[in-house]
Amino acid sequence: MRVIDLSTPIDASKWEPEAVVHEITTPAEGARHMSAEMLEHFGVHFDPAVLPDQELLSIDTLTLTSHTGTHVDAPSHYGSRASYGEPRHIDQMPLEWFQRPGVVLDISGFGVGAVRAEQLAKELDRIGYRPQPLDIVILRTGADRLAGTPEYFTSFTGLDASAVHYLLDLGIRVIGTDAFSLDAPFGHMIKRFQESGDASVLWPAHFAGREREYCQIERLANLDALPVPFGFTVSCFPVRIAGAGAGWARAVALLDA
Ligand SMILES: [Zn+2]
Repeated sequence: MRVIDLSTPIDASKWEPEAVVHEITTPAEGARHMSAEMLEHFGVHFDPAVLPDQELLSIDTLTLTSHTGTHVDAPSHYGSRASYGEPRHIDQMPLEWFQRPGVVLDISGFGVGAVRAEQLAKELDRIGYRPQPLDIVILRTGADRLAGTPEYFTSFTGLDASAVHYLLDLGIRVIGTDAFSLDAPFGHMIKRFQESGDASVLWPAHFAGREREYCQIERLANLDALPVPFGFTVSCFPVRIAGAGAGWARAVALLDA
């Protein structure tokens, strides 16, 4: 079996709209910390010098949103109410959704904005594949090459409502993208709204999830490493964060050869 990593790292050294804080307690600091805690809480004297290299264990403490790096959005992210019932949190979603046959659609030629249903249908015709219910459809926009820069948040292609409903009509429940969002960039949507006064141009892909239950994988990467547009399995189990609207995922493609 071959495994292709489709994930963007969580990396505090890279630019993010909400800065990631990553504090590292080194193994030596861990030894001193443990010694101090033992004395304070249990009155026990422990000399860290007895440990090999005077080191105990490291600890990473992170402050970040659940939408940092590759992650899966749950229905509760899209709004507090949905027409189909109570929107579920990420820890409530069925695991069966997250390891499924994958198909990658190339929408890298569309520029900043949102593609429509007929454009996805055309790409499916081009590659000669008919998605089956619960397949994981992933969109290659090419935006992951901008990851870690401010342009990553302003320059990419999303889906409009027709494109999302088209995929949901095929029985798809997990839609992935290598861009920051499944919707067009924030600035692009606001500009279109101000020009038209039409509120339906605002977050149509996310808000489609208030009508029909589905998950998104955002901030995938490396989709051009996939040697075929289908015939592989996507695995993207989200971290089980109780009551959260999203969970980080190590998304990978599994290939037989
Ligand atoms: Zn998200």
